[in-house]
Amino acid sequence: MSTILIIGTGGVGSVVAKKCSKVSDVFTKIILANRTIEKAKNLEKNINEVETEAVQVDADNTREVIDIIEKYQPKLVINTALPFQDLSIMDACLETGVDYLDTANYEPPDEAKFCYKWQWDYHDRFKQKGIMALLGCGFDPGVTNIFCAHAKKEHFDEMHFINIMDANGGDHGQPFATNFNPEINIREITQNGKYYENGEWKTVPALSQHKSFDFPGVGEKEMYLLYHEEMESLVKHFPEIKKITFWMTFSQQYINYLKVLQDIGMTSIEPVEFEGNKIVPLKFLKALLPDPSSLGPLTKGQTCIGCMIEGIKNNNQKRYYIYNICDHEKCFKEVGAQAISYTTGVPAMIGAKLMLQGVWKGEGVFNVEQLDPTPFMNDLNVYGLPWEEEFYEYTVRK
Ligand code: NDP
Repeated sequence: MSTILIIGTGGVGSVVAKKCSKVSDVFTKIILANRTIEKAKNLEKNINEVETEAVQVDADNTREVIDIIEKYQPKLVINTALPFQDLSIMDACLETGVDYLDTANYEPPDEAKFCYKWQWDYHDRFKQKGIMALLGCGFDPGVTNIFCAHAKKEHFDEMHFINIMDANGGDHGQPFATNFNPEINIREITQNGKYYENGEWKTVPALSQHKSFDFPGVGEKEMYLLYHEEMESLVKHFPEIKKITFWMTFSQQYINYLKVLQDIGMTSIEPVEFEGNKIVPLKFLKALLPDPSSLGPLTKGQTCIGCMIEGIKNNNQKRYYIYNICDHEKCFKEVGAQAISYTTGVPAMIGAKLMLQGVWKGEGVFNVEQLDPTPFMNDLNVYGLPWEEEFYEYTVRK
């Protein structure tokens, strides 16, 4: 029924393409666009179920994206390139009147600062054009937001305290490697931590707050408070939230390596002079680190990502935990990727499917928690990311 354009055929984009190709009654033709065309061509060779075409694009250049959209007339553009390309691709969608979906919010290349303002500012223009942009439809952001929307719909009158907790219990045997794009990952982790409490954002030094948690399927892990973008949209769309935090696990070895790299300036995004050229240390580091897609065959173990929510239902105070456990080796067997790419790519495919089927529709710019969570929650169970719930009902309020 529909042609789609996937821009960015790295770790996540490859999973999206492979999962879409298995739903061939919805996705009938997939255009695979990437800066390095060989990557798109390699991916094309691995997709047999639907028609595909590999094209070269520099998505920083809106005109190039417009030309591809005009040539192939996709119903939807899925952006799985980097956050730096979000606005140039949204501009192309506006110009051509095509729906848009991504998995990470915009970040200016020269400043490690991601926030939704830049993309929310497109709302009126998307609305006027009668098209939809769906932001942050990966796992976190993405499924974590939908878990909150599901919790609110099914289990709470008000959600007051939310801890989003992301554990990667996978072991790839490498001394130091990131499990998604190293540049984006290290920019995110080395920023100050930030959380929301009683109407205010509070900042703490990077990786300074940590505690352990016993994750289902993964076991006891040390998790660190980080700033993560879904908190910004969740407090906007669920204004009853009193406090929200985001936690991610890292091994002590990972933290030690990161600290050394930081101390010697290798994680900096400030250009430095090197043998007559300007180089950005973090980009150079990225070139040296293992490509996350190379970790697929090496990684064993599981991820567990979910939300612990406390709030009120019918005057009873409740605590509720919802999570998904995903196995790296099973993912690799199914799509040739480790669980981080898988847990991001599957939700992007589901969001795209619901948009193309007209189940999720709207005019303007939306975060996933603004849409009905039920069809998405059902599809998570069907397409490889089943979820579990635990309930604790502990006080009767007077
Ligand atoms: P990769 O680096 O593996 O893939 C990114 C791809 O985008 C590469 O193939 C790259 O091509 C391509 N690309 C980069 N710049 C351009 C450009 N200007 N024009 C065209 N193509 C370009 O990254 P991941 O797949 O790990 O991550 C993809 C996205 O998913 C990121 O935005 C990341 O933040 C997000 N993400 C979201 C998560 C979530 O849960 N919401 C979790 C993990 C990731 P080339 O190699 O030629 O540069």
